[in-house]
Amino acid sequence: MPNLNFHPAGRHSLSIPGPSPVPDRLLRAMSYPTIDHRGPEFGVLGHQVLAGLQRIFQTRHPVVVYPASGTGAWEAALVNTLSPGDSVLMYETGHFASLWKKMAERLGLRPEFVALPGTCAETGLPLSWRHGVQADLIGQRLRDDREHQIKAVCVVHNETSTGVTSDIAAVRRAIDAAGHPALLLVDTISGLASADYRHDAWGVDVTVSGSQKGLMLPPGISFNALSPKAIAASHTARLPKAFWAWDEIVEINKTGYWPYTPNTNLLYALVEAIDMIENEGLPQVFARHQRLAEACRAAVAAWGLPVQSADAATHSPVLTGVVTPVGVDADAVRRLIYEHYNLSLGTGLGQLKGRMFRIGHLGECNDLSLLATLGGCEMGLRQAGVALRGSGVAAAMDSLRATAVPVARHPVS
Ligand code: PLP
Repeated sequence: MPNLNFHPAGRHSLSIPGPSPVPDRLLRAMSYPTIDHRGPEFGVLGHQVLAGLQRIFQTRHPVVVYPASGTGAWEAALVNTLSPGDSVLMYETGHFASLWKKMAERLGLRPEFVALPGTCAETGLPLSWRHGVQADLIGQRLRDDREHQIKAVCVVHNETSTGVTSDIAAVRRAIDAAGHPALLLVDTISGLASADYRHDAWGVDVTVSGSQKGLMLPPGISFNALSPKAIAASHTARLPKAFWAWDEIVEINKTGYWPYTPNTNLLYALVEAIDMIENEGLPQVFARHQRLAEACRAAVAAWGLPVQSADAATHSPVLTGVVTPVGVDADAVRRLIYEHYNLSLGTGLGQLKGRMFRIGHLGECNDLSLLATLGGCEMGLRQAGVALRGSGVAAAMDSLRATAVPVARHPVS
């Protein structure tokens, strides 16, 4: 048995941008007995899960559920729609976009990165990692592709390594304006159920997501939401696939069952999570995240530190990337905060390692949990010797007070 006896007094503040804290309601739901996944009750659960997911993804089309982390659903999106050697246009928004590109290479695709060129004068970091997808760069590249060699455009909706979101509807418009038939594949692993996302309305062909962020579940489930065009592409795509293949799953899902053993107890939690989200209301959930993110950025501004996201229009509602002054190791600050205040913050990833820490404000987060996190950050930054301009906690309190609304205690009608 591993030694799990490591919990200090009080709750640990898990303020990384996923996995996000799992609400007690979900933990309790997960403790129900596991049932026969081929028995009569399971079909009811399966239908409930699949119908609920369609509402969360805002789609009328199938949503495929995998007992896998988000990386599995990335692979599923590629292998179901593409063939060996296909050209794929990907956009460099940060570390996760880079990992998805690496996966495409390993699968035998020919991915091409487009990115905003240059480095940021303020931080010395790549500009493309501070801004959302520039749809016009995608449109231009597609117009140049007269032979239609590019089979798919892949973008990350909420880049978890930087705290920048992208305008997916604008990417769709750019593809259409170029008159190009490429599929649009979108990763919203950290955006779903926190940031506004509309699979059908935005014309996305495959949406990739996961359980451990806005849906508040533990890691272990991931998703592909499909379009009819993506399903048609899957009939001729030749990349090898078996476990990930949509056709069998979608067919058996019509009965509420899966072709393999699904993770039943996580599905209990998923039904509960969808119920919580719908009781609050999806638009209200999105608004809560925006409001908390605004308060978090007010804190960072009061400290006098830059946020990694450069454009007001595309700041992430899910997380905020805080850039530490040159010479201050962000990971050392994080470690100090963890050791003294029992608070976990997200590490800087890829090119941002040591330069930035990430504050997650997603899922169950509310005004007071955010303030606790900001309090831990502020104490830790001062302890680490970082000269702060002022109190971020005070600025966040002002922001939250100015925008305070009565907490909804009843389901929206
Ligand atoms: N894409 C994004 C945007 C992510 O944030 C993550 C994980 O944090 C992944 C992909 C990979 O997902 P997983 O770690 O669940 O495999």
